[in-house]
Amino acid sequence: MKKQRRISALLLFSCLLLSFGTLCLNGCAKKDRNVRYDVTYGVLFDTVCSFYMGADDKADFDAIQRDLLQLLSDLDSLFSVYKDGFDNNLKTVNDRAGVEPVAVDERILSLMEFSLECFSMTDGTFNPMMGAVTVLWKEAAQTLVLPDEEELRKAGAHIDPSCLVIDKEKSTLYISDPEAKIDVGAIAKGYAARLATEFLEERGVENYLLALGGSISASGTDPKTGKAWKVGVADPTGQENSVADFYLSGLSAVTCGSYERFFEYEGQIYHHIIDPKTLRPARTSSLHENEQTVSVSVFCSDPALADAFSTAFFILPKEKGKELAQKSGMEALWIDSGGNFFQTDGLDLLKARKNTSGEDRSESAVILFLLFLVVLASVLLFKRVRKENPPAANPEEDLVKTPENSDLTRSRGQNFREEEESFERTSENKKKRRSGLKLRRKDGIFLGALALVCLVSVLVPVFRKDAGKSDLYAVIRVDGQKLCALPLDGEHTYEVQSSLGKNLVRVKDGYVWIEEADCQGKDCVRRGKINQNSLPAVIACLPHKLTVTFETQPQEHENNRCSEKGDFISP
Ligand code: ADP
Ligand code: MG
Repeated sequence: MKKQRRISALLLFSCLLLSFGTLCLNGCAKKDRNVRYDVTYGVLFDTVCSFYMGADDKADFDAIQRDLLQLLSDLDSLFSVYKDGFDNNLKTVNDRAGVEPVAVDERILSLMEFSLECFSMTDGTFNPMMGAVTVLWKEAAQTLVLPDEEELRKAGAHIDPSCLVIDKEKSTLYISDPEAKIDVGAIAKGYAARLATEFLEERGVENYLLALGGSISASGTDPKTGKAWKVGVADPTGQENSVADFYLSGLSAVTCGSYERFFEYEGQIYHHIIDPKTLRPARTSSLHENEQTVSVSVFCSDPALADAFSTAFFILPKEKGKELAQKSGMEALWIDSGGNFFQTDGLDLLKARKNTSGEDRSESAVILFLLFLVVLASVLLFKRVRKENPPAANPEEDLVKTPENSDLTRSRGQNFREEEESFERTSENKKKRRSGLKLRRKDGIFLGALALVCLVSVLVPVFRKDAGKSDLYAVIRVDGQKLCALPLDGEHTYEVQSSLGKNLVRVKDGYVWIEEADCQGKDCVRRGKINQNSLPAVIACLPHKLTVTFETQPQEHENNRCSEKGDFISP
C-alpha cells in the first residue's frame, strides 16, 4: 500500500513537474531576463519626456539614460526658436533672417532638409516656415486678442519655404526673406526622437520606450510583460484615460491634438495647429455633422515622419489624409469632437496586438486548466484507491501468519482455524492489491495521457510560432505597386532603383530595414527596423515611395520572390 502511494505521488509529482516545466518553456523562456527601469526628464521640447528601458542592472540603465538626457537637451537647445545663449541654434537663424547665413550643427541642417521634404510630401500642409503666422497666434493665446485680418494677410506673404537656403558644403542655413521665420514645433520632437532611437540602437539597447510628450517610440518588448509595449491614445474629452490601446514594437506613435493647447474667445476654441491656406486654426469638418477633428494619431517606423504627418492629417480633409497615409505606409486614427473614430484600413492589425496577447493568455489558461485536471484526477484517484484498499487495521495483517507468530497459548485446532482464516484474508488482500495494481496501471495511463496533452498543448504553439517565422515575407512596393517579396528567414539584400536614387532593402536576423545606396545628398532613408513583432509592420522611404510590409500568404510570395543583390528595378 505504501509502495502504491509512493508510486502515485511520484506520478503526480512528475506530471506537475512536466506541466510546470513546459509552462516555463513557453512562458518564462520567452520573457526577457532584464528588468524595466524608467526616468522622467521633466520639460524638454516644451513637454514632459520619459524613458523606459529593459536593463540587466540599474548602473547599465543610468549610463544610457544620462547620455540620452544629454543628447535630448542638446537637441532641445539646437532646435529651439525661443532659447537664447546657445551657439547658433534655430533662433539664431531666425534672428539673422535676411542678414547672413549662419553656420549650424549638422543635425539642424538635416532637420530642415527633412522638413522641406515633408512640406512637399504633404502638398504644403505641413510648413516649417510658418513662423511669421504662428507667432501671431501664440501672442493671441497670451493676450486673448485675435490677430486682425490685415496682420494675418501680411504675415501669410512670408511663409514660402523657398526662402530657406541650405548649404550643406558650408554647413550654413540662411533665410533670405527678412520677414520669414522657421517654426519646427510640429516636427522637432519627432526628429529628436528619430536621433534618440538611432543613439539607443548604436548603444545596443533593444527594449525601450521613449516618450517626448505625444511622440512615442518603442522597440523590442516591455520587460514587465514580455510583449510589445502597450500605448494608449489619450481621450480628447479627458473623460477616459485612453480611448484605444495599441501595441508597439519597432514603431512610433505620434498624437497631434487640439485639446491641450488652445484658448477660448467669444465661445470659440482657437488651437495651435494652423491651416496654411486660411492662416487660422484648422477646422476640419468631420464625417459627422457639427463635429470637428480633435486628435490624430499616426503610427509608422519613423517618429519624425509621424510627427510631421500627424499635423498635416489634422488639417487635411480626412479622406485625403487617409489616402496619403496608406500610400506612405502609415496607419492613422482620427477622433472627432463627438468621440467618433475614423481610421486607416490596417490600424486594426495594430490593435490586434491586444488580441495576440489575449491569445497568449488563453493559451496559458488552457495549460493551467490542464494542470488543474491532472491535480484533480490524481486526488480523486488517491481517494478511490484508498477506499478500495482500506489500510489494514493491523499492519501485521498482511503478513502470512505462521504458527510461530500465532497465539501459542491457544489450542492446536483453534490455531489451525485461525491460520485458515488468516490465509483467506491474506489472499483476499492480495486479490484486492492485484486489482488495485490493475487500477493503478489504468490510472497511470490516464495520468500519463493527461501529462502528454499538457506537453503537446504547450509545445505545439512553440513550434507553431517558429514555423510562423518562415511564413512571413517582406513585401516591397513602389508607389503602391508590388515589386516582389523577400522571405524573412536568412539574409537578403535587394536593390531598388528609382529616379531619385538607389535603395537597399535588407533582411537579416528576422529584421527588415531600408538603407540608402546613393541618395546624392538627399536624406532619403526612412529609419526604422521592423521585425515580426511590429504591427502594422511597415517601413517607408517616402521620396522614393518605397514601402516594405510584412505579409503571409507564402505561396503567392514564393512565386514572386525578389532576386538577390545585384538586381535593379526602375519603377
Ligand atoms: P504638439 O506640438 O502639440 O505636439 P504639433 O506637432 O501639431 O503639436 O505641432 C504644433 C506646432 O507646430 C504649433 O505650435 C506651431 O508651432 C507649429 N505649427 C502649427 N501649424 C503648423 C503647420 N501647418 N505646419 C507646420 N507647423 C505648424
Ligand atoms: Mg506634429
